[in-house]
Amino acid sequence: MYLQDFEYFRPGSVEEACQLLFTYGFKAKAIAGGTDVLIKMKKDLLAPEVLVAIGQLPQLKNIEYIPGRGVVIGAGATHNDIQNSKVLHEKYLSVAEAAHQMANNQVRNLGTVGGNISNAVPSADMPPILIALDTTVKIVGTKGERTLLLEDVFTGPNQTVLEHDELITEFVIPDNGFTGSTYFKFGLRASGALAVVGVAAAVKMEGDVIKDARIVLGAVSPVPLRAKKAENFLKGKQAGGELFTEAGIMASHECRPISDIRASAEYRKDMVRVFTMRALDKAVNEGHV
Ligand SMILES: Cc1cc2nc3c(=O)[nH]c(=O)nc-3n(C[C@H](O)[C@H](O)[C@H](O)COP(=O)(O)OP(=O)(O)OC[C@H]3O[C@@H](n4cnc5c(N)ncnc54)[C@H](O)[C@@H]3O)c2cc1C
Repeated sequence: MYLQDFEYFRPGSVEEACQLLFTYGFKAKAIAGGTDVLIKMKKDLLAPEVLVAIGQLPQLKNIEYIPGRGVVIGAGATHNDIQNSKVLHEKYLSVAEAAHQMANNQVRNLGTVGGNISNAVPSADMPPILIALDTTVKIVGTKGERTLLLEDVFTGPNQTVLEHDELITEFVIPDNGFTGSTYFKFGLRASGALAVVGVAAAVKMEGDVIKDARIVLGAVSPVPLRAKKAENFLKGKQAGGELFTEAGIMASHECRPISDIRASAEYRKDMVRVFTMRALDKAVNEGHV
């Protein structure tokens, strides 16, 4: 459990951080909260010769609402920053609640949303709710910047489209008119457990008719998965218990879980059915986004 020697840089800007990652190539690793990187280093799963610290950069910390743009969340915001953000409580309570369901207080104090996304662990808690709200991601590297939909960032377990010298700088939840959203997590303990299944739902209601819907599943496929057949099935229909039950069944057929030490594939599929039903009911009926 001892750390190997490494060089440690504390750049003063994102540009400087990207330049360091470019210069040192695969010998270097960005570190934000370190709740994943340091553990992997202690377990000898990772041995970077250079760590580039980005967690202290003030430009990655903000959480603010910009009219016409949406809610901007800096990639260096910790899960506790998100959980306690007044802006998110007012605009997207579901995102603050998802952050609250992560890990434990110590990890939430250090772990960042940028780290959670870049890790690309299939069971990660922040991707489903952020994808459900059509979140975009700004990525900055030595060759410039680009903006992608979050759902297009993941390419496989622990894999993303990020180049080695690129960093995520911010997430934007656009004003897309969702009237309700929520994230349901099932873990094996009440606190500090990874998701066995995570389900996020977001809906746009007009009266009691569902105009648009998102259902995003975590921990049941190599990358966070939109249950698009179930989403399409809901559109234009009157909300209600039977509809949610049907959508839950459809979502359970769309996912591709594996069996592992925490649950069997069959159990995960059934939990997707139940949690999709509950998530839709909450997103439609509790009415806050
Ligand atoms: C006890 C424990 C419990 C946990 N429970 C949960 C849980 O319930 N749910 C859950 O989802 N996760 C959980 N985690 C995993 C982890 O804490 C989170 O994924 C956390 O958000 C990682 O963020 P970090 O800032 O600590 O990442 P770091 O460890 O600093 O970095 C992780 C990876 O992301 C890269 N990175 C970091 N920031 C950026 C950026 N801005 N741009 C590009 N790359 C970047 C790093 O280079 C590294 O590859 C848990 C971890 C522990 C130790």
